[in-house]
This record gives sequence, C-alpha cells and structure tokens, in this order.
Amino acid sequence: MKIVNPATEQVIADVPEDTAASVVQKFARARAAQPAWAATAIDVRLHAIRRFRDLLAANKDALALVLTREMGKPVKQAGNEIAAMSGRLDFFLSSTANLLRDEVAFKDAGLEERIAYEPWGVVANISAWNYPYFVGSNVFVPALLTGSTVLYKPSELATMTGLAIADLLHEAGVPADAFIAVVGGGTVGTALSRQPVDALFFTGSHATGQKIAEATASRFIKTQFELGGKDPIYVCGDVDVAIAAEGLADGAFYNSGQSCCSVERIYVERTIAAPFVDAFVKTVGGFVVGDPESPATYIGPLARPQQITVLEAQVKDALAKGARLLCGGRAGERRGTFEPTVLTDVTNDMLVMREESFGPIIGICLVDDDEQAIRQMNDTDYGLTAGVYAKDYARAGRILRRVNAGSVYWNCCDRVSPRLPWTGRKHSGMGSTLSAAGIRAFVQPKAWHLRSP
Ligand code: NAD
Repeated sequence: MKIVNPATEQVIADVPEDTAASVVQKFARARAAQPAWAATAIDVRLHAIRRFRDLLAANKDALALVLTREMGKPVKQAGNEIAAMSGRLDFFLSSTANLLRDEVAFKDAGLEERIAYEPWGVVANISAWNYPYFVGSNVFVPALLTGSTVLYKPSELATMTGLAIADLLHEAGVPADAFIAVVGGGTVGTALSRQPVDALFFTGSHATGQKIAEATASRFIKTQFELGGKDPIYVCGDVDVAIAAEGLADGAFYNSGQSCCSVERIYVERTIAAPFVDAFVKTVGGFVVGDPESPATYIGPLARPQQITVLEAQVKDALAKGARLLCGGRAGERRGTFEPTVLTDVTNDMLVMREESFGPIIGICLVDDDEQAIRQMNDTDYGLTAGVYAKDYARAGRILRRVNAGSVYWNCCDRVSPRLPWTGRKHSGMGSTLSAAGIRAFVQPKAWHLRSP
C-alpha cells in the first residue's frame, strides 16, 4: 500500500497490505494469546502502558513528523497530540485497577453476591486518521489493561503512525500477539469485521459505522461507534466578543477543521452579530496556511484531497441559497489546502449547516433569542457536542440541558477530557470511551451467587 504525503503528493512509503487470509491468521494469533495476556498480573500490564507513555514522550518530535508527513497535520499540532497522551494515559493508569476489582453486592451469614469484571477476549479496533493517537488509545489502552488482546486497524491515512504505535507498545512490553496492527483500507476493515472477534470498537464516519453495524448486528457481539458530528455553538449577546471569536475560530479551524468535535455551526445573537463576525474574520485572517512541516503553520493540507470538492460544493450551495462569503471559499494555492472559509447569513437548510464539513469552513447564522438557538442547534442528525458562550452559567445551563448532545460546553469548545465520558448521540454514535464508563466498556460483568454449604 502506497503512503502519500498530502502536502506534496509524493509517495513516502510502500508498506505490505493485509489480505483476507493474513487477517484470519492475525485473528488466530490474537485469540491464542489472549488467555495468557489476561492472566498476567494487572501490575505487569500497567507497567507496559507506563513505559509506552514514556516512549511516546521521548520520541515525540520524530513521531510528530511521521504523522505530519502521512496526513498533513501541522507539525506543532501533531506534537501537541502526542504530548497530551501522557495525561490521557495517566488517567487509564490510575483508574483501571480500581474498576476491575470484584464488588460485593450483598453478604449475610449464608450468602454472598458478587460482581466480577472479565475482559471481552479479542477486541477489533477500527480507527480514524484525524487524531490517531487519541482515538486509537481510547480503545486499545483500556482493552489491553483489562486483559483483551487487540487487532488494531489504523486508518489507511495514518498507517505509519499505527505501525509506530505497535512498535512502541511491543518495546514497552506488550507481547507481539497481544497487540497486532492490521494494515489496509476499507476492504481490510471489512475482512477484520468478519472475524469472530468478541468486541468491535469503531471510530470513523457515520456511513462506515452504519455498514459495520449492519455486518455485525446478527452476531450480538459488543460494538461501539464513535462517529461524526455537526457541532453547534450559540454565542449569547452578553459575551466578550473578542474572546469568544478567538476561542471559536480555533475550535473551528484547529487540525484544519478535521476534528470530530470541531465547531461546525455557529449561532450568534443578532445584537452582537456585527462585532462578533468582524472579530472572527480577523482571527481567521491571522491563521497561517502553509507547509505542515513548518512550526508556524496553523492550517495544512487536507488529509483527503477529495474533501476539497465537498467543501467547494458546500460553498456553492450556501451562496446559491443566499449566504455571504466573508473569506476563503476555494482551494488554496498550496497543494491539498482549502482557504479558511467563513460564511454568514447561513440557514439550516444549507449543506454547510447540515453535513459534516471536516475542513476549514464555518457557517455563522444569526438568531433572535435562546428559543430559536435551541431549535436550530437540535435541528441535526448528529449529537456529539454543543456549546454556549454566555456570561451567566444559569442561562447557559438552561439552554444546554435542552440540547441533545453527548458533551456540552460553557465558554469552551472542541475539548475532550479523559475524566469525562466521550459519547455521541443519534448519528454521532453509541457507547462511551474515556472516564470510568469508557473503561467499563471493555469488560463484561459476571454475577457470582455464593451460598456457603
Ligand atoms: P472512515 O469511516 O472513512 O474510516 C474509518 C475506518 O474505517 C478506517 O480505518 C477505514 O479504513 C475503515 N473502513 C472503511 N470502510 C470500511 C468497511 N466497510 N468496513 C470496515 N472498516 C472500514 O472515517 P475517517 O475518514 O477515517 O474518519 C473521519 C470520520 O471519523 C469523521 O466523520 C469524524 O467525525 C469521525 N471521527 C469521530 C470521532 C469520535 O470520537 N466521535 C473521532 C475521530 C473521528
């Protein structure tokens, strides 16, 4: 499989792709290795992940460059992702052992009722490219710590990173057959989803998630889906316009807009629309579009060149329906880039407000009051995150309680915390990773009824 740098369109590596037959063999290895891995002391498994954390930190700059060259993430942001892994792994390291302990639910002289937690067995992890360290580790770290073995298929656009992760885990002490990378695109993903795994955790688009859900439904295995979003933010009339604009521009354009929780729709109270839009466009004008290997670059090429056509279509549709283009709107001069684009006077019937853009583009819609904002925010198939910028928490809380999304933000956005469940509603997915819920997702309870003779 040829790995292409989206910034240059040069082939930078050629790696052997898995076949249907090699996926079967890899599954057999993972199955055979699982009982021994589950039987290792939890301290041994924790030690390996601790060492993995330290190896990531020690190799941060080299790993960042690998990620930048294969998917175009600006190198500073690639480094930020790897640096933030320490905190995420520390959460798993400090929380998992407690959550695995047996719980005594009832006890009297003759009877004890106890809950034990057992690993799934073999876990398939089919993953996305946009934050390969974060979205991968949300699955394979708790899976490994709780005693499952893992077949990890990185996205075909983050293969070199996936292989580097496998090397580092093995160097850290995870046995070669307890964590196996599976290399390839959709066909290999399909082959993996057909294996008799015990659980399948998927991160990617709603369209692919739907195919996997259909392919696995009749097997009654554990499945979880972290899918796309169309995340709205409502800016109330009492905010500091400059601060809100700066935070939201970053939330919309970081990682060139290719985050599942990117700000994808902005609703602003009409009273402050003019100064807010001015400040927003000014911030966006300061973003450096350029060579992703330069530390000064904020917006790089899109990982998928075809996405440019999707963004162009969204602009065209919005303009035809009456939106105003304030900046950008077309492919950039540098290969693979799209100019940061701001549209205003948009309405919810435009593609830019309905379909996940996954690129450096944002629509700003003017609203009259909180009721209208709530209606518009909920007018979507997705339900990943939503936020309110407002002076007063009481007002923001009132609004956010009525918004159907898995994560809600007050005066912040595009944010994930390992301590909180990461969970999508509706087309954004099913199930949670991160937090205690995201560790428990990797174990199955066994109920023990113990009566003394
Ligand atoms: P994608 O659906 O194109 O691919 C995801 C993975 O599925 C890849 O590894 C791919 O090779 C594999 N795949 C493709 N077809 C398959 C099939 N038929 N059977 C099995 N596997 C198959 O998604 P992507 O472009 O890699 O990622 C972008 C999407 O992921 C966006 O929609 C984004 O919002 C979403 N995402 C969500 C989260 C979240 O936490 N909710 C996080 C990151 C990305």
